[in-house]
Amino acid sequence: MSAREPGLAGEAGAADGQPGTAGQPGTAGPSGLPGLAGLAGAAGDPGTEKVEVYDTTLRDGSQQVGLDLTVADKLRVAVALDALGVDVVEGGWPGSNPKDAEFFARAADLPWAHAKLAAFGSTRPPRRTAEDDPNLLALLAAGTPIVTLVGKAWTLHVDEALRTTREENLAMVAESVRFMAAEGRRVIFDAEHFFDGYRADRGYALEVLAAAAEAGADTLALCDTNGGTLPDEAVRILGEVAAVTGTRLGVHFHNDSACAVANSVVAVAGGALHVQGAANGYGERCGNADLFSVIASLELKRGHELLPAGRLAALASTARTIAELANLPFESRQPYVGSSAFATKAGLHASAIARRPDAYSHIDPASVGNHAQVLVSELAGRSNVLAKAAELGLDLSGDPALASTILDQIKEAEHRGYAFEAADASFELLVRKTAGLLPAWFELEGYRVVIERGAADDRSEAIVRLLLGEQRVVAVGEGVGPVHALDQALRRGLAEVYPALAGIHLVDYKVRILDGRAATSAVTRVMLTSADAGGEWTTVGVSDDIVTASWEALADGIAYGLLRAGAAPLASPELTASGAPA
Ligand SMILES: [Zn+2]
Repeated sequence: MSAREPGLAGEAGAADGQPGTAGQPGTAGPSGLPGLAGLAGAAGDPGTEKVEVYDTTLRDGSQQVGLDLTVADKLRVAVALDALGVDVVEGGWPGSNPKDAEFFARAADLPWAHAKLAAFGSTRPPRRTAEDDPNLLALLAAGTPIVTLVGKAWTLHVDEALRTTREENLAMVAESVRFMAAEGRRVIFDAEHFFDGYRADRGYALEVLAAAAEAGADTLALCDTNGGTLPDEAVRILGEVAAVTGTRLGVHFHNDSACAVANSVVAVAGGALHVQGAANGYGERCGNADLFSVIASLELKRGHELLPAGRLAALASTARTIAELANLPFESRQPYVGSSAFATKAGLHASAIARRPDAYSHIDPASVGNHAQVLVSELAGRSNVLAKAAELGLDLSGDPALASTILDQIKEAEHRGYAFEAADASFELLVRKTAGLLPAWFELEGYRVVIERGAADDRSEAIVRLLLGEQRVVAVGEGVGPVHALDQALRRGLAEVYPALAGIHLVDYKVRILDGRAATSAVTRVMLTSADAGGEWTTVGVSDDIVTASWEALADGIAYGLLRAGAAPLASPELTASGAPA
């Protein structure tokens, strides 16, 4: 159980109506609706009442197409969320699939520091008892301190989806909540399609809330399941519900109108004390509310304390970690946490930014663990390159000739199709190589790739010839496709000399054809993201040929990984290229 007050007792007007707490059903409030008591001044001073942060990445967020977490990955995500300091981690729907049941069995052994675990499930089906419903029993068996029950709040769904009577739906809600509360669980009620239901039949939507509160739900989460609600309406409806409800209200928004974060922020400002969302805005269709943006906005701009003290600075790294666990490319434009969230392109501004960073960004990037990265591009001025190099710890200000050479090389490379905005590592390799600060870990003498297409499977074989100082190495690799085979061969050729390679792996590979019109002379750009335990980096390769472009990005990725690992080259004084654009 949470130590904090479950209802809104203490707020003016709530005193005469007991908030519905587990095992202590509420009494009729002044509205006449059982369990709903008057609530005045819900939008009290920000920060005076803790807003509960409820993460649903592992349940609702995992509905996103292409997001498929193993049980091990789900556990890692849970650990990351707990370390960040969210209050509740919703682990899944144990009644719906065996994977989620296994997750709950193993999650009990995690070293939880802050968060409480919630299991999610639906109210009992029509014409059945709660005690006999296998889904509710599976929910109970998950053994979580919190159970989140979803029930219908929209008459259309009761009539058409459940195909039962409205009275039976109210009974389903009440009996399911009462069953869980009687078992000692803290019950959160997710009122599905609440905003649509409220618009269609206000009275019935409120009756559903009252049924849940009276039966012992301590939080009523108003869900915008279709994601169509706009902020003004979200606030209006929340306010109207708060006026007749003595139970703590929460919100759950989807992003179909691009307002999920905005709705969540204004709802909390309007009195909601519980906010649901998913990491990086994951979720089906257009996603759930991005919990990280909600947290940052409310903490930095509304004075709420959602995370434990000092944890906000872990936001950016948590967002990346979860993206990596989800095996999804991290969106660089993601507000607050994206790598370009505070980046600016125009060379015009770089020197001004260096003088007054606060004049060009809405918050201090460091407050969420991000930084004001300055992007390189073909618009790059000299000051941009200097600032970017300084960010990498390379001071070029004392050598104007070197800075000019580097700038010329960047312009020339970008003209050929390179893009350094997202390929920090290739940029750094280029600067280091030009400055004579890049060790030659290996040199490519040549490679050969054979692609075999069979009836059952495709297989490629690569042979790479490398020079490691005086030593010549020939290595063979096999893989699914030529790039994979090249990667395997390269690693095999280097593994003995550079054991650090074992900790470096590929996380993302993107191909883009730069001139689709001239099909025969199209240029291929490959962006490749590699990672080690400490983070990830992106390299770029460009060529008329996709394998050559991939090789370049691959070799750069390995070289940069060796640079990060501090690997000593076999022949250090020789400063030749590893694959950076010449
Ligand atoms: Zn949802």
